[in-house]
Amino acid sequence: MCCAKTNESLEVNADVEDYTNRPPYLLQPLQRFGETKWRAHCQCGQVKYALRRARTLNAKFCHCRQCQVLHGAPFQWAAIFPKEDIRFENGPEGLSFYAAGEKNHKYQTPTKVSCSICRTPIMDEGRNMCLLFPQLIDLSGSPDEQRHRMQHFCQHIHDGIAKWSGMDEQSQQLDDDGQPLKP
Ligand SMILES: [Zn+2]
Ligand SMILES: [Zn+2]
Repeated sequence: MCCAKTNESLEVNADVEDYTNRPPYLLQPLQRFGETKWRAHCQCGQVKYALRRARTLNAKFCHCRQCQVLHGAPFQWAAIFPKEDIRFENGPEGLSFYAAGEKNHKYQTPTKVSCSICRTPIMDEGRNMCLLFPQLIDLSGSPDEQRHRMQHFCQHIHDGIAKWSGMDEQSQQLDDDGQPLKP
């Protein structure tokens, strides 16, 4: 009985701590991570991360009600990156997690990640990928250079790709203004 109990509590702890031992929260030495292509930080500066991949795999605007409410914006702009290309400077410290389905702060994927101090939305972490919010990425330089750099996070956005009210292919398809498409 005693042993069973111990095992059970170990399992729970392993579940909770597991995510801190893998990207993007793993605190690995910078030299192992590789060359940083981009840096990003939240409004207050508590949360900082580095990217070793120059271009997003894909980008999307999401017009679903949940994104509108959670971002206080007409749509969410997200750039998709593999988890292993992201390195948070302080690991999971200073990050706040929100499970929008369960409406609680218990860590699980998918989760919405924000800064615990300034509440800047950082990313949506899915099971395999992270959807970063590119506004946080440092694009210093002239306005022309900034526009050029911005293209790294806009892949496919302005090419007439299908937009959805929720999950791709599984929800109502929308036009470019966020209105339901007539069949
Ligand atoms: Zn902050
Ligand atoms: Zn959405």
